[in-house]
Amino acid sequence: MEKIVNIIGAGLAGCEAAYQLAKRNIKVKLYEKKTLKRNPVQKLDYFAELVCSNTLRSSDLKNAVGTLKEEMRMFDSLIIKAAEFAQIPAGGSLAVDRELFSKYITNEMKTNKYIEVIEQEFQKIDKNQITLIASGPLTSKTLQLEISKLIGQDYFYFFDAVAPIITKDSINMNIAFRKNRYEKGETQDYINCPMNKEQYELFHKELVAAQLAPVHLESEQNLKYFEGCMPLEVMAKRGFDTLTFGPLKPAGLRNLDGTNNFAVVQLRQDNAADNLYNFVGFQTNLTWPEQKRVFRLIPGLEKANFVRYGVMHQNNFINSPTVLNEFNQLKSNHNIFFAGQITGVEGYVESTSSGIIAAINIARLINQKELKKFPIDTVMGGLQNYIIATSSKNFQPMKANWSIVENLEIKSKIKKEEKKDMYSNRALNSMKQFIKTLV
Ligand SMILES: Cc1cc2nc3c(=O)[nH]c(=O)nc-3n(C[C@H](O)[C@H](O)[C@H](O)COP(=O)(O)OP(=O)(O)OC[C@H]3O[C@@H](n4cnc5c(N)ncnc54)[C@H](O)[C@@H]3O)c2cc1C
Repeated sequence: MEKIVNIIGAGLAGCEAAYQLAKRNIKVKLYEKKTLKRNPVQKLDYFAELVCSNTLRSSDLKNAVGTLKEEMRMFDSLIIKAAEFAQIPAGGSLAVDRELFSKYITNEMKTNKYIEVIEQEFQKIDKNQITLIASGPLTSKTLQLEISKLIGQDYFYFFDAVAPIITKDSINMNIAFRKNRYEKGETQDYINCPMNKEQYELFHKELVAAQLAPVHLESEQNLKYFEGCMPLEVMAKRGFDTLTFGPLKPAGLRNLDGTNNFAVVQLRQDNAADNLYNFVGFQTNLTWPEQKRVFRLIPGLEKANFVRYGVMHQNNFINSPTVLNEFNQLKSNHNIFFAGQITGVEGYVESTSSGIIAAINIARLINQKELKKFPIDTVMGGLQNYIIATSSKNFQPMKANWSIVENLEIKSKIKKEEKKDMYSNRALNSMKQFIKTLV
């Protein structure tokens, strides 16, 4: 019997996956509810809506997201084609006219003979049918419950309240030092950035006056009532000392020479490769430029390289390290795949790329071929690997960046920019070779 794939959600990941399956002559039923019931951030009736900014970010191959787009071009990505069709001038970024962009994609979905668009809310997952769940960060309520039932309630999240993440090599270890609070444990796991009173005063002053990101959804107003989710700036506004009794507590974190500090910012290892660190207790609603400006005032972090900024917003995502395998397939039911922001990738381009990974593997499953793990020296593969191989305990969504791509051992000292070129060239060559194996 001919296999038909259900795709839930005609967003970026869902439309890309539908297109990739159609290209491989596989029939798709694409379910989308927005024309009947929009979520609070949707404004258009067209599919694959860019709900906030209108940019797919940098085109520079030195930037991991630039290379990611180039990898996606190798798969004839529909979303990239639509972006190039609807492109508007924006320096080195791929920015689009959002209506033209979404119209182009909707037209492809509605005219492609392999794709049947069904404009209704998908409510019940049939475990015996091949289904791709790409319902995004604002999945409908009924489907949220279905997914929770399918994977277990503990593995489905409703909010994202995360602290920023920086690269380890951008921390000045002449100022910062390794130590656990009260020297507990056998290894020195934390990197600590010490502050004297003057440094803390400046940090506090700038933090309380910094610009906040706009709140998109009413439900986000209540985020602060969630345990452990108080934004850093809200805490700081309660009083000059509040942070020094909270996340910046100096107790048990003396300098290596035994002297005391007025405040200490702690950084915690974020990934197994030990090249990313997150700020302990720094959930924040500051705008991204403000995070960069204010957090770089912390001694030792003057040149911090941010791979992810802190956010506090509604975001439905699953605990991929626990429930997904390397093909974006549910470990407990091989008929069910996930793609897009719901898998814990973050961003328009990243969400789309995970739709390609899922579609290629669904096509292989249907054609009874072995499923394929994308190479981890590519950005697509590195990102996919991050969401399944990172710690399940503090799992938080991730954007494309070079730190999640397989480390490139370079013996000689070279400039950062040259290194990025090397990462990019290696990724693109590796993807070319990988595509040859997809027969
Ligand atoms: C408020 C907000 C702002 C964001 N801003 C940016 C930004 O500026 N830049 C950036 O790179 N990323 C941004 N993101 C993150 C992310 O990149 C986008 O959300 C992106 O659209 C995710 O793509 P997706 O395909 O996973 O989901 P979506 O594009 O959201 O697509 C999911 C689709 O599924 C549909 N759906 C949901 N439930 C059902 C159901 N039961 N039945 C049928 N259809 C259903 C929805 O209507 C939607 O069309 C933002 C996210 C949010 C929530």
